[in-house]
This record gives sequence, C-alpha cells and structure tokens, in this order.
Amino acid sequence: MTEKEGGLAFLPLGGTGEIGMNLNLYRLDDTWLAIDCGIGFSGNDTPEAEILTPDPTFIMEQRDKLAGLVITHAHEDHIGAVAHLWSRLQCPVYATPFASVVLRRKLGEARLDQKVKIHTIKCGGRFNVGPFDIEFIPVTHSVPEAQALALRTPYGLILHTGDWKLDPTPLVGPPTDIDRLREIGDEGVLALVGDSTNVMTQGPSRSEAEVREGMTALIGSLKGRIAVTCFASNVARVETIAMAAQAAGRTVVLVGRSLRNLDVAARECGYLSGVLPFLTEQDVNNLPDDQVVMIITGSQGEPRSALSRIASDVHPNVALGEGDTVIYSSRMIPGNERAIMQVQDNLTRRGVTVLTDRDAMVHCSGHATGDDVRTMYELIRPQYAVPTHGEWRHLTAHAALAQEKGIPAILLEDGDILNLAPGVVEVVDTAPTGRLAVDGNRLLAMNGDVLAARRKMLFNGIVLASFAVDDEGYVIGEPKVSAPGLLDSDEPENIRVREEFANAIDEIPDELRMDDQSFREAAKTALRRALGRKIQKRPLVDVHVLRV
Ligand SMILES: [Zn+2]
Repeated sequence: MTEKEGGLAFLPLGGTGEIGMNLNLYRLDDTWLAIDCGIGFSGNDTPEAEILTPDPTFIMEQRDKLAGLVITHAHEDHIGAVAHLWSRLQCPVYATPFASVVLRRKLGEARLDQKVKIHTIKCGGRFNVGPFDIEFIPVTHSVPEAQALALRTPYGLILHTGDWKLDPTPLVGPPTDIDRLREIGDEGVLALVGDSTNVMTQGPSRSEAEVREGMTALIGSLKGRIAVTCFASNVARVETIAMAAQAAGRTVVLVGRSLRNLDVAARECGYLSGVLPFLTEQDVNNLPDDQVVMIITGSQGEPRSALSRIASDVHPNVALGEGDTVIYSSRMIPGNERAIMQVQDNLTRRGVTVLTDRDAMVHCSGHATGDDVRTMYELIRPQYAVPTHGEWRHLTAHAALAQEKGIPAILLEDGDILNLAPGVVEVVDTAPTGRLAVDGNRLLAMNGDVLAARRKMLFNGIVLASFAVDDEGYVIGEPKVSAPGLLDSDEPENIRVREEFANAIDEIPDELRMDDQSFREAAKTALRRALGRKIQKRPLVDVHVLRV
C-alpha cells in the first residue's frame, strides 16, 4: 500500500469538476498533511442534497498519520467543511488570523470550538506541521489573507498556490508577494500545484481599484434606493461599496446574516477601519431613499437570501420598487444562472433597475487569468506543473499554459495519488473518493441507500401500504394505501389501487403468509403490480404487515 512507501506524494480528494470542494493531501514518507477542507453547493444536479463535502474516508482511516490541516483562505470551498468533517479527521488546524476568526465562528455554531486546536499563523509566516516545513506567501484573492504555501521537504520544494490573482492595487491587504515567489523560484521548485479556475480568461486581471472607481461613479449618478449584492467574504468589495456610498453622502446598511457575521470577523482583524460602522436593516425605513446604500446577500439567487425575499416582496424590513437600483457586484457561478435570472426578473417586474458588470465596472474576478498564470510560471520555474481546482477544460487550458513555458504538466482526477519524488513523477495509485451530503446535522453518502431512496421519492413518489393479519396470516379489515407526492387520497386512482392491492394480497399463497419477511415481499410485488398498470411510474414502495 502506498502509505507505507517513502517519498513525497500529492492526492486531491475533491477539487476537480463543476463543484470544486477542496481537500488536498500531501504525503511525506508516512505522514500526511491536509490542505483546505471545503464544501460545494450542488445546484440543480442533486436537488436532494444542497451542501456537499468530499468523502474523507481514505484519510480518516489513517488519521493517526495525519499531522494537520492547513487552510489557505476563508472561502467556503476551502474552509466550509471543517466543522462537518473535523470529528472524522481530529487533527490540529493552521490558518491566518482572519481565517481563524471565520473558522472559530463556524466551529462555535457546531459546538466544536472547545475541541479543535487552531494554530493562528501570521500572513507570510513559516511553521512546521509534523515533518512538513511550511511557508505562507501572501497572495491577492477575493477574501483577505489568502496564502500560497511553500512546502519544503527533503525530496524537494512544492509551491501550492491556493486561489490567487495578480492585482497591483488590491486595496485591502498586500499585493501578491512577487519578490518572495521569485526567491522561491531561485531555490528550485519541484512542482507547482496551482489553481485553474480563471485561466481561460485572457489578458491581465482587472484591479479592485478599477472597481472602486467604477462603483463610486455609478453610485454617485443614481437616485432612489440602491442595493449592492456581493459575496460577504469579499472584504475589499464591501469596503469599495461603503467608500462609494460615503462619497455620495449615503449611509450603509447591511442586509443578511452572512454579511453581519463577516463584518464582525473583518473588524475584529482590523479591516474596514476606514469605514463607519454599518447600520442594520431595521434602520432602513428611517433613512430617506437617496441617502442609503444597502449591501445585501443573495448574488447567486439563493432562495432564502435577503435579495430573493425582497424581489418577491416578502422581506420583513426592506422593500424596493420604482426608481430603485440593484447592482450585482459579482459573477454568476455556473449552475446558478436560472436562479439569478429569476430574482432579476422579479426585481424588474417591481420597477427596480438591475445593473451588472456588463453595464458598469462593478466587479473583477479574484482568480488568476491566463496571463497571471504565465507570470507565476516565469517566477517559480518548476520542474512540473500540476493543475488543480477547476473543471477538466480549465485544467487542460492550464496545462497548455505550462507547456508553453516548456514545463511538463500532469492532469489528475480526484483520488489520483501522484508520486512526486523520488523517481518518476506519475500517478502510482488511486484512493477512494466520493461526496457526502450535509443533511440537517448528519452527513449522508451521495451514493448511499438513504439518498437513493430520496431521489426515487423525489421523481417517482412513494407508496406505502399497511394491513393487519391474524396469526394464521389472513387479512383483517381493509388495507390502507397512501401515496404522498403521487396520488391524492380521495382520487379514484387511489381507490382502484387499494382495491386491486386488497385482491392481490388475498391471492398470496398460504405458505408465504406465515413468515413476515416473505409475506411482506410478496405484498410489495402485489402493490407494484397494482400500481404499475396505469400510473406508468416506478415509485418507492413499502409495505407494513401488522400481525395482531
Ligand atoms: Zn477562493
């Protein structure tokens, strides 16, 4: 088995594909290191499960060899699964001050804050996790304190970029530390393991400073109420909106729980210090329409978000209408288009003007463009490129950029174990992978029985029948049949099914009636037959036999 071998290996467990939930593993001789532990949102593909995590079984089964979990930044797809999976991993966690504050709040909600040891590491800090010698390198991203990692091992140096971009004027936090990256390149790098999300965009990244200019001009030109929606964790963007509002003589109100949480975390870490404290949504109606800017959650069309409620006119405190404007300071995450369009349509129906980054310079991506990635390869000059975090076409485009620089690239699927050193850099083994669904306070396997049954119920309905029998197995009274989500109880079809089922169970041979299990199976077959003829669906079927 691979974990007994020496050397250095890399194993991604969840970053590939449309729903990128990062859980990366490195093995140095017989010790593992985890980097990031994120959730994904399932979108329309799996309506039975909204929030997903990677299945950590592979590393859980050898957690005595797991030295720690390092968080690169505080985005949900990198940090969101820690509270869900930590009890399976049970290792110390390492993060920057801002990511630590965000994580501690999440762990508090899960009542794990007393159990999890979080080591707060300063931005750009160097620290050891077991045998791994790790250096944080500050990079710009759409959340404060994103860090690339330099992993120094006896077998070579790995640069793990995390999410990053180049922006000479990020406005909150320092720009990507180009000089340090070049010095690391000078040291000699075995492999660059890097983000691929935005490599298909050409040209250099746009800057947050351009967004601030665009936002200030736009907000200054508008009358009526203004609401701006963006990701809560994008502290630079929240500051941009607040500064633009202040310049226009407008007061800023936060609407939505995740924004209030992030505001507390950001101010605790010293961010937003140049911005007046935000008011809450209860204050909106005390302010004249042209003296308020609301920053609001719901840029992805999330049905329970504040913006979706306002668009449907069911928000308890805030209403928007004729003469008001909603600005989307965000991108559409693939899979969310329909939900976003529906919210925008509802807003337009109320007379609200909807503006997006197509109308004004109100958004820029937090991920490296193709040009940024080229620059990174010029700085790092690795022997190998390992594209991660993206769909297959992004990984392929990233590989092409590396090869343009003469650097061989290796494409991995989740679960591939890549030997980095010594010897040939190649996939040597695969680990089992999968997804878990967050279901209330439980985690369910996406390919397990519970969710399979729920999928079947969702599309084909469920039919439950129950009847009582005496100790010789003869039916007493009438069977009951219910089919929620399939048939109304007083509909003629339901009555027909019940009658056909009653006749069919009367015909079950005597020898099957004495054993509960075989009686139940025979009754299920009878129920399926009674249903099948006319409904032309294959619902989930269950039968309860009560022996009295
Ligand atoms: Zn990110």
